[in-house]
Amino acid sequence: SISVQNLVKKYGSLTVVHGVSFDVAKGEFLSLLGPSGCGKTTSLRCIAGLEESNGGVIKIEDQIVSAPEQGIMTPPHERQIGMVFQSYAIWPHMTVGQNVGFPLSIRKLPKAQVEKEVDEALEIVGLRPLKDRHPSQLSGGQQQRVALARAIVGKPKVLLFDEPLSNLDAKLRESTRSEIRRLQRELDVAAVYVTHDQEEALSMSDRVIVMNQGHIMQEGTPKDLYRKPANRFVGDFVGRAS
Ligand code: ATP
Repeated sequence: SISVQNLVKKYGSLTVVHGVSFDVAKGEFLSLLGPSGCGKTTSLRCIAGLEESNGGVIKIEDQIVSAPEQGIMTPPHERQIGMVFQSYAIWPHMTVGQNVGFPLSIRKLPKAQVEKEVDEALEIVGLRPLKDRHPSQLSGGQQQRVALARAIVGKPKVLLFDEPLSNLDAKLRESTRSEIRRLQRELDVAAVYVTHDQEEALSMSDRVIVMNQGHIMQEGTPKDLYRKPANRFVGDFVGRAS
């Protein structure tokens, strides 16, 4: 599970996240939805530990991983998270297996355990036979599955997604959506999914948070947002045709 309380993030004098709070339960899929620049990626990167926040408390599995006022900043590899980025961020010079094992090698786990975890993750995404290939020998969809396998390797408690479908064509986007939900349900983990695409957020999520200019505009089920938008911004953003 994840708990975010009063998260604040500034870049210099510019505040881009203004005291955002939300919880995500184990097994729950939450989207952060909003226009470009609203602070959704920054919020996600603070949960991942890729950005240091300026205020608030972030807990993962009831453990405080970020609390600047208390001097707590747990490094990403100790947060029990897996993350999928917009650009898959897989290394061309490494094999599929080496890419997937990378997060575990940072944690300095024994080699045999890394191999076992890598094989399990590859099995789950159906890439086991391609373990020794290089990314350039894979299709775009297979490369995205390498990124998914790397996110789930070592069985994290939390999955974080930053616009993972934006580089895929329409057909692949559809199948990857269901693949992401299948993995998240199978692992029974909390997921936070960042997107600017309202159709994607509404169709995939248990709950959606609509953000604008660093603030939460509304939080609710897809049905709530669609039927009872809290304000004009949510109504326009959620109701708009894609
Ligand atoms: P997008 O989908 O375009 O990434 P977003 O909602 O995810 O949008 P963020 O990426 O979180 O928005 O950015 C929020 C604000 O913070 C923007 O105004 C952006 O210009 C600013 N910002 C992001 N990263 C930095 C940085 N490293 N230095 C300074 N400003 C930044």
